[in-house]
Amino acid sequence: MRYSQLFGKTSRQVPKDETAVNAKLLLRGGFVDKLMAGSYSLMPLGLRVVKKIEQIIREEMNATGAQEILMPLLHPKSIWNETGRWETAREVMYQFKKGDREYALSFTHEEILLDLVRKHVQTYHEFPVKLYHFSTKFRNEPRAKSGVLRGREFLMKDLYSVHTSQEDLDKYYEEVADAYITVFERIGLKALKVEAAGGVFTKEHTHEFQVLSEAGEDEIIYCPGGDFAQNTEIATVKEGKQCDLGHGPLLKVKAIEVGNIFRFGTVYSEKMNVMFADRGGTRKPAFLGSYGIGLTRAMGAIVEIYHDERGIIWPAAVSPFDAHLVHVEDSGTEPWVKEAYDKLTKGGVEVLWDDRQVSAGEKFADCDLIGIPVRLVVSKKVGEGKVEWKERTSDKTTIVDLATAVKKLSS
Ligand SMILES: [Zn+2]
Repeated sequence: MRYSQLFGKTSRQVPKDETAVNAKLLLRGGFVDKLMAGSYSLMPLGLRVVKKIEQIIREEMNATGAQEILMPLLHPKSIWNETGRWETAREVMYQFKKGDREYALSFTHEEILLDLVRKHVQTYHEFPVKLYHFSTKFRNEPRAKSGVLRGREFLMKDLYSVHTSQEDLDKYYEEVADAYITVFERIGLKALKVEAAGGVFTKEHTHEFQVLSEAGEDEIIYCPGGDFAQNTEIATVKEGKQCDLGHGPLLKVKAIEVGNIFRFGTVYSEKMNVMFADRGGTRKPAFLGSYGIGLTRAMGAIVEIYHDERGIIWPAAVSPFDAHLVHVEDSGTEPWVKEAYDKLTKGGVEVLWDDRQVSAGEKFADCDLIGIPVRLVVSKKVGEGKVEWKERTSDKTTIVDLATAVKKLSS
């Protein structure tokens, strides 16, 4: 991709109405555009990051045996009345009237999923059902001040599982929890599984996946030994208490919630008449689990963790491109500049080529702001068939053969 052609360029201007680091850097880097508080467009660079996160989640969800679907965002009031959530979740839902009918914009999909299950599966041997989708969620956020960490509209992966027993649900719940840890590791986030309250979703305790960060809106008490973590909203102990396993005092820290998993049991199935026939032909209510990861929030969390005073530092797995190619001293029309770009792209490397006629200093500053892990410089000084290799995390530069760079970046 030639940078001159890319829609959405960098900006030196710090957005005045943003306080969150993630919003400032994503706006300045040309990753997102702000429509209003809590509502952002994903520009081509931002969408590339989100698509990388999405693919990693897809791979890990498929590995648990789940299948991908896509459910609607516009819901009739009637389906929400079946569980009573039209009333109980009123504060977070966008509800409205059109003509003489009432609708909601999706803030979650348990009801829609259960409707699918009761229509399409009836007997025990058709269970468990494991379905997920990537789609937009709408939530009425009175204060949306944390950039893409808290949107009124945001992208989420939600997985639902329906089982014939609590034991089977419990088993899959743990399997998904493990898959979540893997997802977060792959996208560069060290997430803790934290016990939490269920909010508008359930009275039962749930588990959140929390990334330690001062930018977080949550507070957790945890043991660095890894055996204990609770959200302070339900915490049964105080910070400073000694861990029972001898790891030392429990710590209280701020954290960003990047995922949340729930066990609903049969509560909604009973209300919505989602039944299955067991081996003896007796009809019983099904057991529901629900599992969410916020994609845009994960992108924001990554920026909060990986940045410095110059800009973003993307982990390679979610970087919008593998390499940022820059030519200096030349006009860009020299054959070796185009040759470097062609060899890299033909070798399977995703390259952003800054082909503008601006100073080297300006190009390098943009490289640092955009945060692609590897910067490659071509110039007469570097030499034909060679590139200067520099990683975003280091100031060290080395001259390597173009072929070596292709090999390193495509492996
Ligand atoms: Zn401990």
